[in-house]
Amino acid sequence: MEPTVLADRYGRIATDLRVSLTDRCNLRCSYCMPAEGLDWLPGEEILTDDEVVRLVGVGIRLLGVREVRFTGGEPLIRRGLVDIVRRTREIDPAVELSLTTNALGLHRMADTLAAAGLDRVNVSLDTIRADTFNTITRRDRLDDVLAGLAAARDAGMTPVKINAVLLRDVNDDQAPELLAWAIEHGYALRFIEQMPLDAQHDWSRAAMVTAEEIFERLESRFVLTPASEPRGSAPAELFTVDGGPATVGVIASVTRPFCGDCDRVRLTADGQVRNCLFAREESDLRAAMRAGAGDEDLAERWVVAMRGKRPGHGIDDPTFLQPDRPMSAIGG
Ligand code: SAM
Repeated sequence: MEPTVLADRYGRIATDLRVSLTDRCNLRCSYCMPAEGLDWLPGEEILTDDEVVRLVGVGIRLLGVREVRFTGGEPLIRRGLVDIVRRTREIDPAVELSLTTNALGLHRMADTLAAAGLDRVNVSLDTIRADTFNTITRRDRLDDVLAGLAAARDAGMTPVKINAVLLRDVNDDQAPELLAWAIEHGYALRFIEQMPLDAQHDWSRAAMVTAEEIFERLESRFVLTPASEPRGSAPAELFTVDGGPATVGVIASVTRPFCGDCDRVRLTADGQVRNCLFAREESDLRAAMRAGAGDEDLAERWVVAMRGKRPGHGIDDPTFLQPDRPMSAIGG
């Protein structure tokens, strides 16, 4: 098989691969999972390090993947993470490698990860107040996150991005202070609209904090101007803050969907290809691989999985169905 691309029927080509390395997490963010956690995937269903590297290699060498982002669950708790990063880097020195993480323990691992070939991290942080952090994550770990962020910056994994979700009556009044803090510390902050991906199915369109409200909050303290650089397939709309150079991003997945420009594809920790966060079907590459499929066969199955990608996630559509798997099991 000649190298090909992951194209769908609407002309989109996926080049950005999100790989979940575990469905487990050491935080319990209220908008993601219940306090008691979830029924985690059984160990034998999780791809081994070799299997992860093999599938990522198929994506890069045969299917045009140019960006790989490791996520979860919490990818830093995956024992083989550094090795997986190093081996992925060896497949192609030009591929962009990043990590979406809550940064717990990152202060111990940032240098090693950077040396293994990790380019960047996206750290999730919804507040800089310890009490609000405890309320949202149900863990008293804010200081660890702040140490992890600083370590990522010191290790040269820049720009260090922060993803924040605003929850009504919990931290929605803190948007300006979080932005001021991020700018002061040199982090690139992006706000993400809360999506219907929580395990408890508590999300409601009426209660979520919309992009419109996020702008209102921020504009009470800052002047935001649409950034001039083209957005391309980036999910965040970028704005300069008070004339720049600092910027802030808003990812309005619900109220201003950007599905038409989507270039993403996902691989779950148990080896299922998902062509969208909100896909209702998955394609089982793990079973095929464990039954002896060769790389070209796996690539062909992956290509077929992409053809079924729907034009949009349809969250605002009355027929919308929340996916069976929560964000933590798909890979955020
Ligand atoms: N544990 C890692 C972390 O904290 O970044 C990676 C996985 S986490 C599921 C990835 C991102 O998804 C985090 O930024 C988190 O805030 C976000 N997230 C989780 N549930 C969400 C939801 N229902 N809507 C929007 N974002 C959500």
